[in-house]
Amino acid sequence: MLNQIEQWIDQTNIEFKEQRVCCSQFFDDFEGFYPLSFLKQAYFVVVDKIPKPNFPELRQMGLGDFIDMEVDGITYKNTYYVLPHIASNLRIHFHELVHVAQWNYLGAVPFMERYISEIQTLGYEGAPLEKMAYAFDHHFSNGGEKIDVPSYVAQKI
Ligand SMILES: [Zn+2]
Repeated sequence: MLNQIEQWIDQTNIEFKEQRVCCSQFFDDFEGFYPLSFLKQAYFVVVDKIPKPNFPELRQMGLGDFIDMEVDGITYKNTYYVLPHIASNLRIHFHELVHVAQWNYLGAVPFMERYISEIQTLGYEGAPLEKMAYAFDHHFSNGGEKIDVPSYVAQKI
């Protein structure tokens, strides 16, 4: 199942490759939080509809609500997708980049395993991987002190 999702993700990221924008453009905005080397290998795509895997198996696993949930952004590996109305909102970029760091650090299959199990047992709001991303975007938007996010993720995840 996870391999099937990973295949779908790889296919989706390839499909949008021409439209993706490199996150190195946020270097000044996110200085002290995300190193340039990290931003250089992260991308975002502005889309009218957030792509989501819609496999019946995922619904059988109890993830129907998550699949149907309206979100402003979602991260697949080193690429995240955002809706046009929030594409210029730095806070959402900051949030999704926390997820890029989580994907990077854990690796694709372990990330998906953990994310799915957190959603299943605690729900989206209670999922620690989400809580970490929300805590960070809150910290950033409130002018919090600089923290190297990828290093923090590697230590605290
Ligand atoms: Zn999130």
